Amino acid sequence: MLEIRFHGRGGQGAVTSAELLAQAAIKEGKYARAFPSFGPERRGAPVSAFCRLDEKPINLRTVIKNPHVVVVLDPSLYEVVDVTGGLRERGHLVINTSKDPRAFFSGNLGGLAAVNASLIAQEILKRPITNTVMLGALVRMLPLVELESLAQALEERFNEKIAQKNIQALKRSYQETLILTPEDHVEREGKGESGEAGDARITGEKDRDYSWKELPPGCIVEPGSTRKNLTGDWRSRYPLLNRERCIKCGLCWIYCPDASLIRKGDGFYGVDLNYCKGCGICARECPAGAILMEKELEG
Ligand code: SF4
Ligand code: SF4
Repeated sequence: MLEIRFHGRGGQGAVTSAELLAQAAIKEGKYARAFPSFGPERRGAPVSAFCRLDEKPINLRTVIKNPHVVVVLDPSLYEVVDVTGGLRERGHLVINTSKDPRAFFSGNLGGLAAVNASLIAQEILKRPITNTVMLGALVRMLPLVELESLAQALEERFNEKIAQKNIQALKRSYQETLILTPEDHVEREGKGESGEAGDARITGEKDRDYSWKELPPGCIVEPGSTRKNLTGDWRSRYPLLNRERCIKCGLCWIYCPDASLIRKGDGFYGVDLNYCKGCGICARECPAGAILMEKELEG
């Protein structure tokens, strides 16, 4: 039995990744189980999902603590979640990064697949939902299922337009994924649609993310470094404040879990959209009904 653990953020599709992989495997006559584990249920919060694949029936329903493969959908998770915790000796890691993937390679890994999934998702899907992109990287490294089976699972799950966009993202990711072996060298490079090498978008060592093993207690790499994580790109709704109704009580500021409300000089409040995740807590708590959650514009 092969056990795969997905790490993502709420709204990013980690659960869907696990389910699509399971559906694709079932199409190929294999046995599969997929299920999620949620933390705080809000957009942007870390989420895990699990998938088991086997040639025979699977009875286990427990969370996967010692996966053979870990797939990380969001680069910011490396600093807040022990994504490789429990990963088996010679296990495989699939990561979304724009940085040099060698920084993520440790001696225990059997292989590492890296792709700039955020970029592909943004360019094709027009939003940072990286789940299908990461499936492309996963099957590039380990041929667990055929790309075509994943494409069929997507077609069954989504309407035609969304499915085709996701299939495009899946296939591009498959092409652009970079694989590192234990010898810590590039075994094979994908070629993008333009024919450029798959690592063309990966920047140099000095910009690299930190692996969790390098992080000090508290995960603070340098003072103020959390400000670099612009978590607002998870938002599908944003709070709109109505000054006519606002009584300047400050409850929105108190309740916002992301410190995204800012008190202005005149006593009213504004929203820092770089960090607001659109959870809607401020709107729910506002006693004056001064906050409405509005849908983000596409693109
Ligand atoms: S400003 Fe409102 S919607 Fe945005 S993160 Fe804070 S509580 Fe949530
Ligand atoms: S909770 Fe509502 S009324 Fe109070 S400061 Fe915020 S927007 Fe204004």
